[in-house]
Amino acid sequence: MDTASLAQVRGWLQYARRIAVLTGAGVSAESGVPTFRKAQTGYWAQFRPEDMATEEGFRAHPRRVWDWYQHRRDLLAGVQPNAGHAALADFQCRHPEQFTLITQNVDGLHQRAGSTGVLCLHGDIFVDCWLDSPRTCCHIDHAVAGRPPCCDGCGNLLRPGVVWFGEPLPYVTLQAAQKAARVCDLMLVVGTAGAVYPAAGLAQLARQAGARVASINPAASALDDVAHALLRGTAAHMLPALLAAA
Ligand code: NAD
Ligand code: ZN
Repeated sequence: MDTASLAQVRGWLQYARRIAVLTGAGVSAESGVPTFRKAQTGYWAQFRPEDMATEEGFRAHPRRVWDWYQHRRDLLAGVQPNAGHAALADFQCRHPEQFTLITQNVDGLHQRAGSTGVLCLHGDIFVDCWLDSPRTCCHIDHAVAGRPPCCDGCGNLLRPGVVWFGEPLPYVTLQAAQKAARVCDLMLVVGTAGAVYPAAGLAQLARQAGARVASINPAASALDDVAHALLRGTAAHMLPALLAAA
């Protein structure tokens, strides 16, 4: 791994014909959204992932898991996109033809900041789907109520439309993200621990295909070895510094 400065990454940005950005929970941290893995305040310090983010966990304790997602939705309703989200949206506005934003986040903050065509690898926390037969339930006219909401015809439960551990990513979205990773000249990896696959594999894919990879993260991550440049700072600080003049 080589290390390079902000100025070098700015140079790569200037000459890149296609840019892909992969974001994780860290890009929303400065909006007040807890990340998953931070030891003191991260969600997994309070809960076991297998209890709160798996189908088995939901089937075992549907109300507990539903209430946790409801709590996260309530939290998200009270926060705003930060300067990092804004810098990405503004850059896309100025360079729409060469830019793809891929996120592991389910919080909708990129979209609220004005980013368009965001490839949401892990779904959307504000969209529910059926637990069994995800597309439709037994009959459209049945009443749905409760925590979690339940079809009074067949008992099917609504669940949050996010990708849980062990579940496949949305196929078309993943294909589009892999294509963007393969064809980009520069990939910015922002605020991800790089521990969840296949999302983290997009950085490797980009590097193998010949792109420069720059990581923005105040701490070490599992993708540090993949990056040509490590920008050790926060998203809300580094993204405007990198993108504002580009
Ligand atoms: P993670 O919690 O595993 O890692 C967060 C990373 O962000 C860490 O590497 C940390 O050093 C870094 N970070 C912390 N503060 C930062 C800041 N201010 N600026 C830049 N980086 C910062 O998150 P992940 O890698 O995205 O984990 C993947 C899973 O977490 C995904 O499945 C995703 O769906 C889920 N998740 C999403 C949200 C959200 O939608 N906001 C929140 C938590 C977790
Ligand atoms: Zn039903």
